[in-house]
Amino acid sequence: MTQLTELGVAAIRDGVAAGSFTAVEVAEAFNVNVAAASALNAFIVATPEKAIEAAKATDARRAKGEALGLMGGVPIGMKDLFATKGVQTTAASHILEHFVPEYESTVSQNLWDAGAGMLGKLNLDQFAMGSSNETSYFGNVISPWRRKDGGNAALAPGGSSGGSSTAVSARLAPAATGTDTGGSIRQPAAFTGISGIKPTYGRCSRWGIVAFASSLDQAGPMARDVRDCAIMLEAMAGFDPKDATSLDMAVPHWEAGLNPDMKGKRVGVPREYRMDGMDADVAASWDQGIAWLEDAGAEIVEVSLPHTKYALPAYYIIAPAEASSNLARYDGVRYGLRDLPDGAGLQDMYAATRAAGFGAEVKRRILIGTYVLSAGFYDAYYTQAQKVRTLISRDFAQAFEQCDVILAPTAPTAAFGLGEKSDDPLAMYLNDVFAVPASLAGLPAMSVPAGLNREGLPLGLQIIGRPFDEQGVLNAGLALEVRAGFVARPEKWW
Ligand code: GLN
Repeated sequence: MTQLTELGVAAIRDGVAAGSFTAVEVAEAFNVNVAAASALNAFIVATPEKAIEAAKATDARRAKGEALGLMGGVPIGMKDLFATKGVQTTAASHILEHFVPEYESTVSQNLWDAGAGMLGKLNLDQFAMGSSNETSYFGNVISPWRRKDGGNAALAPGGSSGGSSTAVSARLAPAATGTDTGGSIRQPAAFTGISGIKPTYGRCSRWGIVAFASSLDQAGPMARDVRDCAIMLEAMAGFDPKDATSLDMAVPHWEAGLNPDMKGKRVGVPREYRMDGMDADVAASWDQGIAWLEDAGAEIVEVSLPHTKYALPAYYIIAPAEASSNLARYDGVRYGLRDLPDGAGLQDMYAATRAAGFGAEVKRRILIGTYVLSAGFYDAYYTQAQKVRTLISRDFAQAFEQCDVILAPTAPTAAFGLGEKSDDPLAMYLNDVFAVPASLAGLPAMSVPAGLNREGLPLGLQIIGRPFDEQGVLNAGLALEVRAGFVARPEKWW
């Protein structure tokens, strides 16, 4: 029998349903891989007993002839930004260390209801702020990938969902949840040779997800292939009255609708994404992607997204502004850490708790956000950024009059080394240049692996779709996937 940890979501679900193996056997196999991979630091806490408990329930349902659910028997990793009842939820921050929620996030509950089980809580950038997983209080995740001929230099798994990308890529989990505020599903997926989709803003409930920038935050799946993403997204999505921005729309049957035939579809290639000095391998992979979609029957059209160059600065005003407001709640009174110096008053306690509890990047964002929202600067920065956001949405709306989906690189480079960018926040922020426009416009966007660069590291291609057209995005992703035939994987060293 194939090793169970080699199987993805669909294969596990179908195999359990067919009786080829039990859900408990699957959970046990992944628990072993998780326990043996501490060198990767992908998990903040492992919950092998939770995975077994869910698997036993699935096996019992099967024995009674009951339906097993969309994710029946599939153990997954849960980004530690989702509140999980009775299990520590930290957002990778000291300020939430030992915080054990009394409630379950809607998305994680949807997954458990669909038959999934939890292998553990995955590491991430602190409060999901970062592109390399280096801002975690619990230490950075190390990518399972290494450069060909690059010695053993440790590489970034991408961020903020770096624990998720590493767990899936290293076969510690068949799939994992991610969240994407400005690329945090797509960029780590691209860095580790896996697939991930951020759905339309509002598809997945934000209820119970630790808030970073509420007008941008969206949950989505990270998995080995497009089909697995479609299945898991179907389980995660749905209207939730507890989230005021939740979409009151039926969840389509994305898996059943998968179709790699692009005949009659127009694929837009945005002129402004072809930047001066673009990495040659990234440019070549993009050209290859264009050729693949043409081969799939699509017509290729050039489109213009003229405000692209303002997307990154607008994002790095709006996201910190919202974060500074959202993070005001961590005051040492209601959650997690409390630092109460001798003889301190209330204000001193707030200050001491926040000084000790937040990491440097989180503090930087709170300072930027507080500044751009302050009375004297609000119009110059925040209002201006909101106007730019509207222009970016309008760019996309106009482009989608000429095309059905847009194809672009996911990130401007392959994975970089740990420490290479962490001293230079601007260099780090630049890595998000292709990811943030779709976030600002609330559009569905996916990354699929497209090949390896000359250093032997994965590159991702990004598909951006119209609002609510996850199906179009998944289908174009599938058309790329069948042509890319991506089977490369990291050599096991951990
Ligand atoms: N890298 C981006 C940031 O640091 C995006 C993070 C995210 O999507 N959560 O804000």
